[in-house]
Amino acid sequence: MSHPVECDVIIVGGGIHGVAAAYFLSKKGLSVVLLERDTCGRCASGVNAGGVRTLGRVLPEIPLSLASSQLWQTLDFLHGFDGAFVRTGQIKVAESEQDMQILRERRDLLAKHGFHHEKLIDKDQVRQIVPAIAAHVEGALWVSTDGFAFPYLIVQAFAHQARKYGAQIREQSPVNAIEKSGNHWRVSTPEHTIAGKKLLLCAGVWTAELARLCGEHIPVTPGGLMLMVTQRVPHFINPVLGATSRGLSFKQFANGTVVIGGALECEADARQNHAELDFSRLANSARIVTDLFPFLKNVSITRAWSGIDGYAPDHTSIIGPSASVDNLYYACGFSSSGFQLGPASGQYLAELITDHAPNPLHQGLLPARFC
Ligand SMILES: Cc1cc2nc3c(=O)[nH]c(=O)nc-3n(C[C@H](O)[C@H](O)[C@H](O)COP(=O)(O)OP(=O)(O)OC[C@H]3O[C@@H](n4cnc5c(N)ncnc54)[C@H](O)[C@@H]3O)c2cc1C
Repeated sequence: MSHPVECDVIIVGGGIHGVAAAYFLSKKGLSVVLLERDTCGRCASGVNAGGVRTLGRVLPEIPLSLASSQLWQTLDFLHGFDGAFVRTGQIKVAESEQDMQILRERRDLLAKHGFHHEKLIDKDQVRQIVPAIAAHVEGALWVSTDGFAFPYLIVQAFAHQARKYGAQIREQSPVNAIEKSGNHWRVSTPEHTIAGKKLLLCAGVWTAELARLCGEHIPVTPGGLMLMVTQRVPHFINPVLGATSRGLSFKQFANGTVVIGGALECEADARQNHAELDFSRLANSARIVTDLFPFLKNVSITRAWSGIDGYAPDHTSIIGPSASVDNLYYACGFSSSGFQLGPASGQYLAELITDHAPNPLHQGLLPARFC
């Protein structure tokens, strides 16, 4: 039997979190082998809505999301190609006085915790940003530094950079066994065994079954999410737009098509890697769009698709070292909004793996909260 390939860090999963971690780790000079069952970006990270959003995050994620926002603006390889990050801003509109009250309370809650990135704006300011919005909109929360990107291309950009720094990214490599031998991990696919000092599991919802191979319980469950896209329409909106009390997020691309999603949940089967489109929910979401932009009433939907994300019980990302097993790290449970976090998650994991203690700012993300 041939000797296992040896490296500093083995990463399982080639979604945004895996490839971003591979990039930051290999840039620090560590030898990295990333094992991806299919192709990088094949799952949630390649099919999501591409929303790059600090707006509306749960409190424990905000420091990492703000750090990620900085990286989205400054990492040069995320710019300068079709599908790169576009800073359009994201806006969450209030459709009633009750919605406005929810937004005021959100602003006050964030201020209490020292966060001021979500700005409360009035109806005139909303109209300056989105002139085509329906008359009933009362105001909004607005983050000018948010935006969107084409997710699949962003995953490829990180993978490309990671390879440039020497990371081995092995696609078509499903991990089917993990064991600890002395102070090394031995991770096997049907073809190879890789030996590494540290192991990072970031395999989306499938992290739960890989954690079991390491003797741990990571409470991530599958959730399906859907998106649909319209035919091309004349340009009418720049920012990504969401509603306060109704699940909606949508954006218009430069080619005129509009992508509609936002908490559009559906049934998911992680074993089959399948999420079933629910057409009645899609129709409901399309109706919210036409309430806000009545002139879109006769526009056709040309395509709908779905993907699966891993959900944590508290809908908050799980990032950090295992609470009980040495040299084991997790990044999973992104609960429908992990794409934006990818760059900072990769950077933070690289710090943790090179022997830094968990950052108190990201305390609320630690896997230990489920022990
Ligand atoms: C339809 C939809 C819309 C979304 N919209 C947004 C959005 O607008 N903004 C946002 O921030 N987030 C959004 N999300 C959420 C976001 O896509 C995810 O949170 C994020 O991509 C998760 O990334 P990941 O790297 O953890 O996992 P994944 O992208 O799921 O990657 C995990 C990888 O692990 C691999 N893998 C699994 N098991 C094994 C194994 N045994 N061996 C080797 N490899 C394995 C898989 O093949 C997969 O490629 C959306 C998600 C969906 C589905």
